[in-house]
Amino acid sequence: MSADILTSIPLSSLPRISQGKVRDLFALPDGDKPTLLFVTSDRISAYDNGIPTKGTILTLLSAKWFEVLSAKVPGLKHHFLHLGPPKTPGLVTPEEQTMLRGRSMTVRRLKVFPVEAIVRGYITGSAWAEYQKTQTIHGLPAPAGLDHCARLPEPIYTPSTKAELGDKDINISPEEARKIVGEKYADRIEQLALACYKAGAEYAEERGIIIADTKFEFALDEETDEVYLVDEVLTPDSSRFWSKADYQVGRVQDSFDKQVLRNWLTANGLKGKLDVEMPPEVVEKTKGRYSEVFKLLTGTSLEEALAKLE
Ligand code: ATP
Ligand code: MG
Repeated sequence: MSADILTSIPLSSLPRISQGKVRDLFALPDGDKPTLLFVTSDRISAYDNGIPTKGTILTLLSAKWFEVLSAKVPGLKHHFLHLGPPKTPGLVTPEEQTMLRGRSMTVRRLKVFPVEAIVRGYITGSAWAEYQKTQTIHGLPAPAGLDHCARLPEPIYTPSTKAELGDKDINISPEEARKIVGEKYADRIEQLALACYKAGAEYAEERGIIIADTKFEFALDEETDEVYLVDEVLTPDSSRFWSKADYQVGRVQDSFDKQVLRNWLTANGLKGKLDVEMPPEVVEKTKGRYSEVFKLLTGTSLEEALAKLE
């Protein structure tokens, strides 16, 4: 097995605050403002083995998006400060420094709103299932006569709850999300989510990728009362990416990154099973797909991007 698959993050020089499905968060010594080291592993949802370099791809892709969205969305504030940990001598060991290269970023530590700010530009997944039953999407009335995977006349904000580890997120209406995040911040979150999606989808489409839908997370800077874009941004893990060249309305689309894995699960009757180990060829092909997305969206290969890092 390749040495660069990291399903856990070997970092003991900093206190680990939490571990999500894919990321580990570490506390950094306080400077002016509280900060975190946001480290992305190669873990892939329910699977035992990881995808080599996945954490690096997600990190460098998110960093690229923070740059692109800052230029395209007026007034956008985001948590990204810089790649890697602060340069303070002795903060991490040289081995840890190497391990963290390309897969970690220093971010502002903020209070995350407990909703997933989903935006959909196309109708698929749980929204399609609901639409077929009731002609609504997250409880909102939707245009009649939509086909599966049709482009929506306008992107829509369709939040969900942010479940604890192991629980399932539940689709809710923007009205229910208002109650969760508070009247004061609801409009700002919705406006930023839609603006980030539109800017990102336009940028991706020019590069051959349709972002069918995506999930953003937002957080509050309690000192200034401002809403920040946080977490990963417009990655294959937080979004549905389709190939623009292969897109056809009225049928299921191949997901750009996860299709190889999905086909293998279906062929082997393993769909929905937990703790599955992917065979090496599925791992390799999936890695290839993540790399392809990275290259299409950033214009550079992962190797080139890594070589440019200090
Ligand atoms: P999923 O991404 O599938 O929902 P998860 O939420 O467990 O799973 P991870 O990506 O593994 O996610 O972990 C990242 C965690 O860090 C999330 O809980 C996210 O809300 C939190 N987070 C993101 N940005 C910040 C920030 N700036 N300050 C504090 N917490 C943050
Ligand atoms: Mg997450």
